[in-house]
Amino acid sequence: MRDTELELSVVVPMYDEEEVLPIFFERMRPVLDGLDVRYEVLAVDDGSRDATASLLLAATAHWPELRLVRLLRNSGHQAALSAGFRRARGAYLVTIDADLQDPPEVIAELLAAAREYDVDVVYGVRSDRSSDTWAKRTTARMYYRLMGRLVGKDIPFDAGDFRLVSRRVVDAVNQLPEDGRVFRLVIPWLGFPSTQVRYVRAGRAAGTTKYGPGKMLRLAFDSVTAFSAAPLRLATWLGLLGGLLSGMFVIGALFIKLSGRSIPGWTSTVLAVSVIGAIQLLCLGLLGEYVARLFQSSQKRPQFLVGYDSLDDKGHQARTE
Ligand code: UDP
Ligand code: MG
Repeated sequence: MRDTELELSVVVPMYDEEEVLPIFFERMRPVLDGLDVRYEVLAVDDGSRDATASLLLAATAHWPELRLVRLLRNSGHQAALSAGFRRARGAYLVTIDADLQDPPEVIAELLAAAREYDVDVVYGVRSDRSSDTWAKRTTARMYYRLMGRLVGKDIPFDAGDFRLVSRRVVDAVNQLPEDGRVFRLVIPWLGFPSTQVRYVRAGRAAGTTKYGPGKMLRLAFDSVTAFSAAPLRLATWLGLLGGLLSGMFVIGALFIKLSGRSIPGWTSTVLAVSVIGAIQLLCLGLLGEYVARLFQSSQKRPQFLVGYDSLDDKGHQARTE
């Protein structure tokens, strides 16, 4: 099935990106045409509600290397990348955002670095985050620091999802059975030889961010639960501490009662109940994260559903909706 002559697949997840698409075509195409390799651009439409899919489909008529894969519903950035990994056919695969924050021109550098150093992974690393907001910079810093510890490998600091991987890596990733994959962690964890290319991350070319606080939190939870049981152990320790505290409360209350003095009001009771309650809730919450993960894995639901692939469309009209 794989087209061995295809050198490069550029996977671009897109969710409601109609505003950026005209600029995307204008900038991406000359860069890729200029690379002098056989390539495909795999636009993964992540269940967009706007005109993204129809604009892409229209563009496939003029840009033969452009290929559209439509997911039936919004499955999230990482799941869209998974879809791209499964469907890409190139000897190398580059993942890049649709909003042109990662400059398409750098793709040439990624490819050159992979060939020159004969490595399987080339990370695009941001040398400057000034285009991001303060809040984003701070949360990102915390995220990479924590994840580096949890994965127990060097997570290239400030490496997002702009990177090049070889066919070996693509096959390895596709063999991982797990759901809720976080590429920026799974790929370093696999441990293939790698190098980095520094680049300046621009601001969004058009439109607004598709990563709300909810999606960001989801990524953080997926990242932690995929690579560490440490929070579960923390829950155990907190549970032990809570047990110890409540034990001390009981002994104290018994002592006061036996010594004949009256119970000194309900304040301490309320305090004890709320402290223990809080600890229990915290533990339950952490357990819940893992249970949810186990639950989702046990369901073996597909991570994404492909509604359309322009490559399959030989003759008959595609559904555009
Ligand atoms: N994206 C997606 N599905 C989603 C959210 C985002 O495919 O549910 C895509 C989006 O279209 C873009 C990339 O993921 O190509 C990164 O998103 P965005 O630029 O909005 O994130 P930010 O740069 O603000 O972190
Ligand atoms: Mg962006």
